[in-house]
Amino acid sequence: MKDHTQSAQIMRDAHDEQPAEPRTTAADATAPRRAAARPTGARGVVVVGSGPTGLLLAGDLATAGVPVTVVEKRPHGISNLSRAFVVHARTLEQLDARGLADDLEREGRRLDRLQLFGAFSLSLDTLPSRFNHLLVIPQYEVEKVLVRRAEDAGVRFLYETEVTGLGQDADGVTLTVRRPDGAAAELTAAYVVGTDGMRSVVRTAVGLPFPGRSVIRSVVLADVRLDEEPESVLTAAAVGDAFAFLAPFGDGYYRVIGWHRGRNVRDDEPLDLDEVKEITRLALGRDYGMRDARWMSRFHSDERQAPAYRVGRVFLAGDAAHVHTPAGGQGMNTGLQDAANLGWKLAAVLGGHVDAALLDTYQAERHPVGRAVLRSSGGIVRLAMAKYPWTLALRTGLGAFLSHVGPARRRVLGRITGIGYAYGAPHGSHPLVGRRIADVALRSGRLYEALRGGRFVLIAPRPHAAQGRADRLAVERWADGRSTTVLVRPDGYVAWAAESPDAAAVEAALTTALGAPDDRRLGGGAGQQSAQQLGELGDPGPIEAGERVGLDGEPRPDGLVDQAQSVVGERDLESAPVVRIG
Ligand SMILES: Cc1cc2nc3c(=O)[nH]c(=O)nc-3n(C[C@H](O)[C@H](O)[C@H](O)COP(=O)(O)OP(=O)(O)OC[C@H]3O[C@@H](n4cnc5c(N)ncnc54)[C@H](O)[C@@H]3O)c2cc1C
Repeated sequence: MKDHTQSAQIMRDAHDEQPAEPRTTAADATAPRRAAARPTGARGVVVVGSGPTGLLLAGDLATAGVPVTVVEKRPHGISNLSRAFVVHARTLEQLDARGLADDLEREGRRLDRLQLFGAFSLSLDTLPSRFNHLLVIPQYEVEKVLVRRAEDAGVRFLYETEVTGLGQDADGVTLTVRRPDGAAAELTAAYVVGTDGMRSVVRTAVGLPFPGRSVIRSVVLADVRLDEEPESVLTAAAVGDAFAFLAPFGDGYYRVIGWHRGRNVRDDEPLDLDEVKEITRLALGRDYGMRDARWMSRFHSDERQAPAYRVGRVFLAGDAAHVHTPAGGQGMNTGLQDAANLGWKLAAVLGGHVDAALLDTYQAERHPVGRAVLRSSGGIVRLAMAKYPWTLALRTGLGAFLSHVGPARRRVLGRITGIGYAYGAPHGSHPLVGRRIADVALRSGRLYEALRGGRFVLIAPRPHAAQGRADRLAVERWADGRSTTVLVRPDGYVAWAAESPDAAAVEAALTTALGAPDDRRLGGGAGQQSAQQLGELGDPGPIEAGERVGLDGEPRPDGLVDQAQSVVGERDLESAPVVRIG
């Protein structure tokens, strides 16, 4: 439902503006638990675009107490033309850390193999994650749970409101928007995040190019009913010059994606169902009796990445920062990881706990991952569409190699599922630093349950008090007798670790990562020290920020995967395969 009154009020967006009532929606059964939406003003964040990236980010910020406004040009309730169907393990872990994965797992369908190219597929059942499968679920279902969470946390949504430009200075950002009634207005914020998709206005407004190129043209999309149900949940094949993919929405309709090398026409060329059927027949041998198309479109797929994810107080995330082909199903997944990386950092800086230098680590950590995703999805699509004898031979050879060489297979799986990425670590730090941590068992339950408060989690062998940081830190103990002390960031990566550290070392690490206790907040000597240390934290040092893959954990009988068992302080760590991206 549209709410012009509220929109107009928010447009004033003055510092002294009174909080407006939360928008009334069909989901108002949840109203009693909902936090009141708050004006953003010069202390908050405006997120431009309510795709999956913007929604996760806005929810994280609001959960951390930051006033957030999401500006979205679409009307409320109008679908984003759902594109993604595949949710990978690392994204499910992030959703688990927000209490959302179980709902989606109930809605979607699990697949325990990942089809890559030709008939080649990789089994996911040894993936060292609680989610050792991929989840097939339409993007709008993911967006639905993210909207609900954001609304419950008090995010303010401005629908039918389009960002048209922005300006910034040292103190904040001013966005120019077109309101639902067509009038221009301004919004102010401390920070703006452009999650406004491939044609990002925010990216253009800060003067960033989007270099790259079109990879595949004239891809056809159709949402259809099928007379014959496909044998598998996802159906995909490339034969000769044709490729086709079928995925269920769960409401009786299927999404068909097709491409034919010989058809290289403009996106605005008319499309009819016969063309979709013909491509499907060429690639899959039959068209499954497709009919009743409720939507059809033609698009081209680009590989592009912004050279920077930040200009001053403006950040880019998701498709606004990087786009690539749908191969491997990594676009939405990567955008959600961007959001998980940026949210807690913005909240920590806006909360006055840490120095703004922390925000530089967003670019250092996420840009190399974006580059790696462009490469892996590009590689998959080129192999899938191999045509010449030498490319077909290469594809066959690579398939055989991956089938027989475990470390190579784990690296590929680590990249595509997202669990194999690790961030740069300061030189000389504990080998765990920068790594993703698996869902290890704690005395109180699971780690990813402990992360649900959006706080850091200190896992220590001995009791340790949160000491004036209870709003930012949960202190937990290992379920077993490990001696390593590990500080886990809110996004599930290790900020710091040490073997049997003394209390002073733990305190110093906490101050570095999440700021001084409340009675010694930034602004004094402690803050200065924290800022310097944060600079070190953000400095990837001689290790290039990029990807490190360590997938040596074994599934445990209880279904949890204990990567840390094999990683924490033990020699498997040194032998874990490490890949850096140049
Ligand atoms: C055919 C296809 C299949 C795919 N399959 C997968 C898959 O299986 N798995 C996967 O992970 N990814 C997949 N993707 C990619 C995935 O859909 C995208 O990466 C994902 O939607 C990006 O999310 P986002 O939030 O960054 O941007 P978007 O979803 O593009 O959202 C951007 C939002 O910003 C709004 N907006 C834009 N401009 C403005 C403005 N000026 N003012 C206000 N609002 C604005 C838009 O209305 C939109 O709601 C696929 C893509 C395609 C094309």
